[in-house]
Amino acid sequence: MAAQILNGNAIRDQIYAELKGEIEALGALGIRPGLAAVLVGENPASQLYVNSKIAACQKLGLFSEMLRPDASLSTAEMLAVVESLNGRGEIDGILVQLPLPKQVDAKQVLDAVDPAKDVDGFHPISVGRLVAGRPGLVACTPMGVMEILRRSGIRIEGANAVVMGRSDIVGKPMALLLMHAHATVTICHSKTRDLPEVVRRADIVVAAMGKAAMVTPNYIRQGATVIDVGQNVLTDAAEVERIFAKHPKKLEEFRTRGRVLVGDVHPDVAEIAGAITPVPGGVGPLTIALLMSNTVRAARLRRGARVAQPAAAS
Ligand code: NAP
Repeated sequence: MAAQILNGNAIRDQIYAELKGEIEALGALGIRPGLAAVLVGENPASQLYVNSKIAACQKLGLFSEMLRPDASLSTAEMLAVVESLNGRGEIDGILVQLPLPKQVDAKQVLDAVDPAKDVDGFHPISVGRLVAGRPGLVACTPMGVMEILRRSGIRIEGANAVVMGRSDIVGKPMALLLMHAHATVTICHSKTRDLPEVVRRADIVVAAMGKAAMVTPNYIRQGATVIDVGQNVLTDAAEVERIFAKHPKKLEEFRTRGRVLVGDVHPDVAEIAGAITPVPGGVGPLTIALLMSNTVRAARLRRGARVAQPAAAS
C-alpha cells in the first residue's frame, strides 16, 4: 500500500494560523515581535532562504529587517553588526545566514548572538538548554520535524527512532528532541557499520545526510514513518533518470527545468513506508514556520512575560 504523504505545507498553514492569534495578542499589549536577518555575499540559495524568511515575517505581521553588510567584512566588523542587533530592543530574533565568507569566523559570530535572540537555536547556551531539557530556543528544522510527527498522530513514545546524520543544526538536536519525547534513539553517521540493517530497526527514520536518494527501500521496515530532511538539486540527466525511473512527472519536470529537487530518501521508499514526507513540500516549509514561531517565542520570553503562553506551545 502506498504511504500516507505527510503534507508539510498544510502543517505550516496550521502553525501560521495559530501564530496569527498569538501575534495579535502580543500586538494588543503593544509588542510586535521582530526578526533581523544578516545576509553577507551573493550566494543565490542564501538569498532565496532569507527572502522567504522576510516574506513570512511580512505575511504574519512581524517586524523584519534585512542587513546586507559588504562581503569583504572582517570578523570584527561582523561581530559589531551582531552586537548592535543584540542591543536593539525591537529585535527579538537574530538570524545570521550561513555560509559566511571564508575570512569571517562563523563560530565566533554565532557565539556572539544574545542567547535570548538566538532564534536559530545554534548558540551553545541554547544547545545546553536543549540537552538539559530546559525551556529555550531550539533549531528550527528538527522542531519542524517534531511538529510533523505530532500533528500527524505518529506515535513517538517508545518508538525506535533512527536519525541519519549528526550535524549541529539537524542531526544532534533532532536526536535530543526525539529522546525527550521518549523515543529510543539511534544516531547514524558516515562511519556507522551495517547502516541499512540499523535503519531497518526503526519505526521512525529521519534522513539528514545531504546524499541524494541514498535511503533506498531496503533500508526501511514495512510501515515505518520516514522523514526526509534532505534537499539536493540534481542536474545530471542519467542520475535523474535512474532515481525517478518510475516517476514520469519528475522526469518531465527535469526536462522542462534542467534541474530537479530530491531528498535523501529514494522516491520508491513511498511504496514500503507507512508515512513519508515529500520533497519539496515536507520538512522545508516547517523550517521557516518554526523560525517564525521561535521569533514570537523569543519576544514573549524577552518582553512579553506578562503574556500567557498558549497551551499548544512548548
Ligand atoms: P551536514 O552538516 O553535511 O551533515 C551531514 C551528516 O550526514 C553528517 O553527520 C554525516 O556524517 C552524515 N552522512 C553523510 N554521508 C553519510 C552516509 N553515507 N551515511 C551515513 N551518514 C552520512 O548536513 P546538514 O546541514 O545536517 O544537512 C543535511 C541535509 O538536510 C542536507 O541535504 C541539507 O540540505 C538538508 N537541510 C534541509 C533543511 C530544510 O529546511 N529542509 C534544513 C537544513 C538542512 P559524519 O558526521 O560522519 O560526516
